[in-house]
Amino acid sequence: MALPNDVDVLVVGAGFSGLYMLHKLRGLGLSAVALEKGDGVGGTWYWNRYPGARCDVESPYYSYSFDADLEQEWEWTERYPAQPELLKYINHVADRFELRKDIFLETTAVSAVFDESENLWTVTSIGPEGGHVTRARYCIMATGCLSSARMPNIPGLESFQGQLLHTGMWPHEEIDFTGQRVGVIGTGSSGIQAIPVIAEQAQNLQVFQRTPNFSVPAFNGPIDQQWYREIKENYPELRERSRHTTMGIPFQRRDQAAIDISEEEREQVFEEHWPKGGFRISSCFNDLMRNQESNDSLASFVRNKIDQMVHDPKIAQLLKPYDHPVTGKRICVDTNYYATYNRDNVELIDVKSDPIQEITAHGIQTEDHFFELDTIVVATGFDAMTGAMLHMDIRGRGGASLREHWEAGARTYLGLAVAGFPNMFTIAGPGSPSVLSNMLTSIEQHVEWISDHLVHLREGGYTSSEAATVAEDEWVDHVRELSEKTLFPSANSWYLGANVPGKPRVFMPYIGGVGRYRAHCTDIASRDYEGFVLK
Ligand code: FAD
Ligand code: NAP
Repeated sequence: MALPNDVDVLVVGAGFSGLYMLHKLRGLGLSAVALEKGDGVGGTWYWNRYPGARCDVESPYYSYSFDADLEQEWEWTERYPAQPELLKYINHVADRFELRKDIFLETTAVSAVFDESENLWTVTSIGPEGGHVTRARYCIMATGCLSSARMPNIPGLESFQGQLLHTGMWPHEEIDFTGQRVGVIGTGSSGIQAIPVIAEQAQNLQVFQRTPNFSVPAFNGPIDQQWYREIKENYPELRERSRHTTMGIPFQRRDQAAIDISEEEREQVFEEHWPKGGFRISSCFNDLMRNQESNDSLASFVRNKIDQMVHDPKIAQLLKPYDHPVTGKRICVDTNYYATYNRDNVELIDVKSDPIQEITAHGIQTEDHFFELDTIVVATGFDAMTGAMLHMDIRGRGGASLREHWEAGARTYLGLAVAGFPNMFTIAGPGSPSVLSNMLTSIEQHVEWISDHLVHLREGGYTSSEAATVAEDEWVDHVRELSEKTLFPSANSWYLGANVPGKPRVFMPYIGGVGRYRAHCTDIASRDYEGFVLK
């Protein structure tokens, strides 16, 4: 089928957000299409096929809740799902709800221009058939927070004659590292997940670490059938609970401040939570991101664990994070990460003290050493939260460009809409909890809120909805003020844009938690969409 010229709604992106949005729009009787750059659906789980790629939220919770039959029929096999299983799930959803006929793959939206005279968006895309222009009443950006992979700015990168791979743009064919000398640049979540798996195959693995990150073991394994059965029996209640928690996961932070008890007692609580795996440890006190002393005690607990897991004290020391609070960057959830450094074929290179100077045809040159490599794996992250949107030339009222509007940092109302850009909505955009949460819970809330809003517009006979400038200003201030009450801004994280040279340093996600945010959005809707100008 050819991409139509006119639709009610054009969705950009076919990851978890785009697929559910498309499904909801159909249910509203609106004509809708989704454009997707990749040649398959799945977004994050389509692009990030690196070895070890796995979710940090337990599988029964990192899944759609909108369809009870889907929830009951699907069978997760592991506690934390790996990328292939997630991609299978997303493809299953696309088939089950017959979404594919309205998804246009290998089709990149390059610009979106608002036509004020008709209240319509004109979206130009490039696909297999060449360029195309589609006009739509509404444009919904489901373009992803972590979908714009960044190559590091290292001199000579393009001259490398071996295999160069980015975790966020991983090839579809199987990569066999057997017998190879492999270098990994980057020790964020992607690097931390890939390193243990690559180490098992490669002849030698050299890890180029600039800044160590906090990582906690997942204690992953086959899904516990009794636990899973209980979840399935109680899904409606668990999902509802998730929607009102901080992180969108149905276990709440323990309501106790670490600062209120002794160091010994804290230690005991950490010890109890550590074997539970993943985020459990960061939820064991309610003041870990508000109180430096509380955070320091968790940080030193994790550092002690590193000492226990890594045999060589010098390597252990290098792996200990020192420059940011625990969870100031999304905590990494790993399988065998630290123990991997006990292997004879793995070497940790501290590129803080011996910086990478250049990449040559045959390897990596640091100030003091040359490392000959067959493959370089780049795990250097993303232009997060704004990158995908700003790749497009988006123009709102009066031809105003989004790039200019966001020049000093992303500005949105509720992370859902942008002043001056009527009839455009963003899913899990900057200013919403998105990346600080279980994103499936956040995505569903956004999709449902946008759907309800579109119904409201239809029923009220409106053809235009736009965030008011004053509402946007207040929201931006509110998001900033909330973050300033926490330790988050002290970390040089991608939440702040700190990983992209020249990017404005603005804390982008909403930190008040999924439940509080949801209540606020619901309240806005109940007050006739306060802060939106409807015409
Ligand atoms: P995406 O999945 O990023 O999909 C956006 C899609 O839009 C992409 O397919 C992209 O190709 C497409 N697109 C972008 N721009 C254009 C354009 N101009 N034209 C056409 N198409 C375009 N979250 C969690 O909650 N838990 C996790 O454990 C977790 N793990 C993650 C692991 C990795 C490696 C990464 C990168 C992210 C992870 N996330 C995790 C966040 C993850 O991005 C979300 O959970 C979720 O998958 C986002 O879905 P989405 O549809 O909003 O965005
Ligand atoms: P990231 O967290 O931004 O980490 C990038 C790493 O690359 C950092 O260690 C960074 O070091 C390093 N780096 C960047 N440029 C470099 C350079 N020029 N030279 C040397 N090192 C360089 O990116 P990511 O690991 O891809 O993760 C991004 C986000 O995706 C995560 O925070 C998480 O939200 C999500 N994710 C989740 C999972 C999961 O567990 N399910 C897995 C992967 C990703 P510096 O810190 O010094 O800049």
